[in-house]
Amino acid sequence: AAVSGPLLEASGLRKVFGGLVAVDGIDFSVAPGEVVALIGPNGAGKSTTFNLVTGVARLSAGTVRLFGRDTSALPSRAVARLGVARTFQHVKLVGTMSVIENVALGAHLRGSAGAVRGALGLDRAEEAALFAEAQRQLDRVGLGALRDRPAASLALGQQRIVEIARALCLDPALLLLDEPAAGLRHQEKAALADLLNRLRGEGLGILLVEHDMDFVMGLADRLVVMNFGAKLCEGPPRVVRTNPAVVEAYLGS
Ligand code: ADP
Ligand code: MG
Repeated sequence: AAVSGPLLEASGLRKVFGGLVAVDGIDFSVAPGEVVALIGPNGAGKSTTFNLVTGVARLSAGTVRLFGRDTSALPSRAVARLGVARTFQHVKLVGTMSVIENVALGAHLRGSAGAVRGALGLDRAEEAALFAEAQRQLDRVGLGALRDRPAASLALGQQRIVEIARALCLDPALLLLDEPAAGLRHQEKAALADLLNRLRGEGLGILLVEHDMDFVMGLADRLVVMNFGAKLCEGPPRVVRTNPAVVEAYLGS
């Protein structure tokens, strides 16, 4: 359903682990067609923030609203079904399986639990639908021709894009990417940025955690800078990169 206003509205997000305040009351939002980057030093609370948004971790306080609806108490599978997909910091492809099989695994998650036919107990029609969707998403990201290659034979940058294709099988309105540019070559980063710009153009909202400042500065509409669990500042790249507190806490290191 079409939603006016932000896709994601995080208000006062807080997460305490024992005595440690990992996320300390942060607010931010992501609108359709917007790329927002969470940056900050190691341990700042970025991954925990992702986990709070996706229902992987329970909030200690605060509210997550997705598509206008309070999802603070929803489990991760329910959040995913609403239209939130994510990739992980480390590539999670099965290297010996083909590219399309890896993507089809993601297509299956849109339905019920489980992991590919045989092991899944899918019938032929379900399997065909799964692979058709996987092919559609591979074509969308420009890797349709690599469908039968073992995932491990692809360059890292291509593997990252396969993971995005897999996430797109959920038909998300909001895409969360954890360090998508890490370890990529210059050209691979450029290809990834092109893809994310295209998805943004289709109206997706994108929230990413990223350490690669050049990548983020060129791509994001807004940066949310975290430090020790709190939001240090927020704004467009050209403003954030000259903020003295940011330079001291992060960019200077
Ligand atoms: P970032 O992704 O910015 O590097 P994290 O969100 O992973 O930071 O971690 C923020 C803080 O919370 C760190 O001090 C980390 O050690 C702590 N932390 C994260 N997850 C857990 C957990 N499951 N249990 C206890 N402490 C955690
Ligand atoms: Mg992290």
